[in-house]
Amino acid sequence: MKKVSLIILALIALAATSQAKLNVVATTPDLGSIAREIGGDKIDLTVLAKPTEDPHFVDAKPSFIVKLNHADVLVEGGAELEIGWLPALLDQSRNEKLAAGAPGHVACSQGIQLLEVPSTLDRSKGDVHAAGNPHYTPDPVNAKIVAQNIANAFCALDPRSGDIFRANLKRFTDAIDAKLVEWQKTLAPFKGQHVVAYHNSWLYFGDRFGLQIDLFLEPKPGIPPTPAHLAEVIMKMKADNTHVIIVDPYLNRKTAETVARNTDATVLDVSQFPGGVKGTEGGYIPLIDYTVNALARALGEKK
Ligand SMILES: [Zn+2]
Repeated sequence: MKKVSLIILALIALAATSQAKLNVVATTPDLGSIAREIGGDKIDLTVLAKPTEDPHFVDAKPSFIVKLNHADVLVEGGAELEIGWLPALLDQSRNEKLAAGAPGHVACSQGIQLLEVPSTLDRSKGDVHAAGNPHYTPDPVNAKIVAQNIANAFCALDPRSGDIFRANLKRFTDAIDAKLVEWQKTLAPFKGQHVVAYHNSWLYFGDRFGLQIDLFLEPKPGIPPTPAHLAEVIMKMKADNTHVIIVDPYLNRKTAETVARNTDATVLDVSQFPGGVKGTEGGYIPLIDYTVNALARALGEKK
């Protein structure tokens, strides 16, 4: 009898501990990785999109609605990155804690200087960047702002763990600051060089590290390449002596390989998301480490 009541007490204690954790849902794995850095073991984390999935077109499973229904916090990119799949899920989840403006709704783009914001909203041609370029996390300085936004929300919702969240934030920010010096040094020899991307998701990264990632296999973000457009890209690559094409895992690598054959270029697999390419599973910092070093290697191979 005594043993049974001890077990029951232990179970009650366990339930109390698990309830004390914030239940966090992040839309994409980059945001999930930063949320984990801040939340540590004080949060239960679910990431909706796979690292190999296009963040604009995530396969919205019914199980996502249940996850959102149970969540205390939603961490989303904002800037319309998830506009194609998240709003309907949020509606169906009927969770007031995650409503726009509620403390449990973290729009990570808050405080970030968005680039390529059009003066008029125009989705008529299928452009998926109608509210500006939403791929800001590959710039480590932006990752620090994301971390701050997440930490603010966690501290407000679980003040008892506030000291831990603030300490985790400082550790992450300090690590980024230290790494940034190293990353900038690694890419410094390639300042001003052109890199071709399949999709316009590397603008902020390019700006931070002095690379011109401004020629794309897609004629417009979200619009598949056409032969006429690719012919133009090949011409420009030859004129600029561009010899690296970067491709995210969910895009058509074969198209990049065709262009590479015509330009004697290298195709490099990159990802905005930890785990999207091999060797980046460790989180945000290992991901940027991989990207910086892989790019430096590819750019260093003189053609
Ligand atoms: Zn995009």
